Amino acid sequence: MRRKLERSNLSMHWRQPGHSFSFRGVNDRPSLLHVLLVEDEDAVRRAFARALTADGFTVDETDSAESALALANRTTYDIIVLDMSLPAHDGVWFIEELRSQGFETPIMVSSGRGADADVEGALDAGADEYVIKPVSATTLSARVRALARRAARSARRTGVGDLELHAESHTASGSLGSTSLTAKEFALLSLFVEQPRRLLSRDDLLQAVWGYSFDPETSVVDVAMHRLRQKLAKVTDQIAIESRRGAGFMLVATFAATPPGTTPSSPA
Ligand code: CA
Repeated sequence: MRRKLERSNLSMHWRQPGHSFSFRGVNDRPSLLHVLLVEDEDAVRRAFARALTADGFTVDETDSAESALALANRTTYDIIVLDMSLPAHDGVWFIEELRSQGFETPIMVSSGRGADADVEGALDAGADEYVIKPVSATTLSARVRALARRAARSARRTGVGDLELHAESHTASGSLGSTSLTAKEFALLSLFVEQPRRLLSRDDLLQAVWGYSFDPETSVVDVAMHRLRQKLAKVTDQIAIESRRGAGFMLVATFAATPPGTTPSSPA
């Protein structure tokens, strides 16, 4: 399905950024995947849109960075295909705005600028792929499919270091083995993995996992954290949750000086 071109004089409707990236499953047909195509050269845009649509993607088209940003704030896209040279603001501006608003939508740049500095600038700003034009529409679409597969793989798992969380099975695995977790333990561990090196207080945990906005004056957090830390020690010796007396708990890497990242390296 192709949607009509959104013109750049589109009015802006801002909303709070949420998790814009909700992938709909690695085995889903691409027809379920929604692509935002940002390209100001009509002929190129039409050719790309045709190829993507023929491959089963749903495509929204626009010709400016400003309208693209407005669209991304209204619609959940799975992939954004982005030209760099655009009328007012350029592609790097769009990437920086989108990322600063918290959107993690995978971005594939397609640009006629192929200098090292251009590629580096776009990737450092937060693009995921860079294709140098001229590129055939067929190849571009194939690359979008590849990026979609890669994004789906990393969306299915979250982790840090060797630790991986598996949401479907409520299990955690690491280089020492795997363990099943209760719903509360899984929710707790997810909180720490999503915010490595952030100190989480008992109040934070009570509120996020148990929904208490008051202290029930029980040791529910400490009991759960004790069990969770025991289970964690059985699956990894690279990641641990440390207790900070009187302050709370923090996920720390025990294997290296470098801080843990929040996503596993993609198996590219
Ligand atoms: Ca252009």
